[in-house]
Amino acid sequence: MSNREHLDTAGFETRAIHAGYEPDPTTGAVIPPIYATSTYAQDGVGGLRNGYEYSRSANPTRTALESTLAALEGAAHGYAFASGLAAEDTLVRALCRPGDHVVLPNDAYGGTFRLFDKIATAWGLTHSPAPVTDLDAVRAAIRPGETKLVWLETPTNPLLSIGDIEAIAAVAHEAGARLVVDNTFASSYLQQPLALGADVVVHSTTKYAGGHSDVVGGALVVDDAELAEKIGFHQNAIGGVAGPFDAWLVLRGLKTLALRMERHCDNAEKIAAYLSTHPAVSQVIYPGLPEHPGHEVASRQMKRYGGMISFRVNGGEEQALAVCAATQVFTLGESLGGVESLIEHPGRMTHASVAGTDLEVPADLVRLSVGIETADDLLADLDRALAAVV
Ligand SMILES: *Cc1c(COP(=O)(O)O)cnc(C)c1O
Repeated sequence: MSNREHLDTAGFETRAIHAGYEPDPTTGAVIPPIYATSTYAQDGVGGLRNGYEYSRSANPTRTALESTLAALEGAAHGYAFASGLAAEDTLVRALCRPGDHVVLPNDAYGGTFRLFDKIATAWGLTHSPAPVTDLDAVRAAIRPGETKLVWLETPTNPLLSIGDIEAIAAVAHEAGARLVVDNTFASSYLQQPLALGADVVVHSTTKYAGGHSDVVGGALVVDDAELAEKIGFHQNAIGGVAGPFDAWLVLRGLKTLALRMERHCDNAEKIAAYLSTHPAVSQVIYPGLPEHPGHEVASRQMKRYGGMISFRVNGGEEQALAVCAATQVFTLGESLGGVESLIEHPGRMTHASVAGTDLEVPADLVRLSVGIETADDLLADLDRALAAVV
């Protein structure tokens, strides 16, 4: 074994490429193989080689990913799952018991809300909503003794609200609750919630971590040994693990996360500036704009402002739908965080299920997941699409 201590102090990009894996001792392969195996030969009963026994419990490709996920959040423990929601479900079962209460963002990711509202509720959990931007509302939603988790997303989807991780961590801890941060939108490159006081980080690695729209996956990252023990036990006991092929794809994606995020941010900043001056656009929602209400907090806790932009189109829903239908480089589609630019209409697509509730989004809202294509091509594409509605 070579000395790996230098990686503890290495930069993000170095850790992304080297932290999870050393060249294979027998072949020298610099990239971990896809260990497509369910079981492992034992040297005598109980004689495991490197601890591998059965691939639900551990698989070397998944171990490489899990070590990398942990290293990228400056944490001791990472866990890879079959999807973001599988990670969330495992977390809830690991840390909550029937009768417990959870505070959720009032604009939580729809799948997260559904998990609590339809699955965890049936299992005996209760939940209350609070806006991530309002510290007093979060404090008021906590039921001391009963609230086990405060769940935070920042930036949120699709309105890109910013929650102050450090301040909300303090509020949660005061009441004896743990803070969970869904770091999917920012990615580990732009935001480090554990360093700001969060107890658990959640990712849908389907998005920026994987980054190429070719895999569905999820992750939990923790530093605390007691939490790690519980999560590790439940990961194996429930079994929603990432398979070796999927783990390999996410690991491959993570190696270029820093580069991709820089380009996502470069392109998004240019597009936000462009949209801000366009006569067909009534409002641009991007945390990098000084007029965004969360700009100051975002500047403190994020390295840059990310690749997601929402904007409102003059003339209402019909015009917003027309813009979505008119782009050629931006592909009309759900999801986010891939190399390709996507456009969608939250009211009719990702957020259709919350119509008529407090979470309903404006009908004239358009959401962009800005990819890493040539910026001028993206600007020209939006210019063409918006010209149709002026
Ligand atoms: C997509 C997403 C999830 C769910 O992840 P899956 O991989 O689709 O299960 C959770 N949180 C956020 C913020 C997401 O965007």
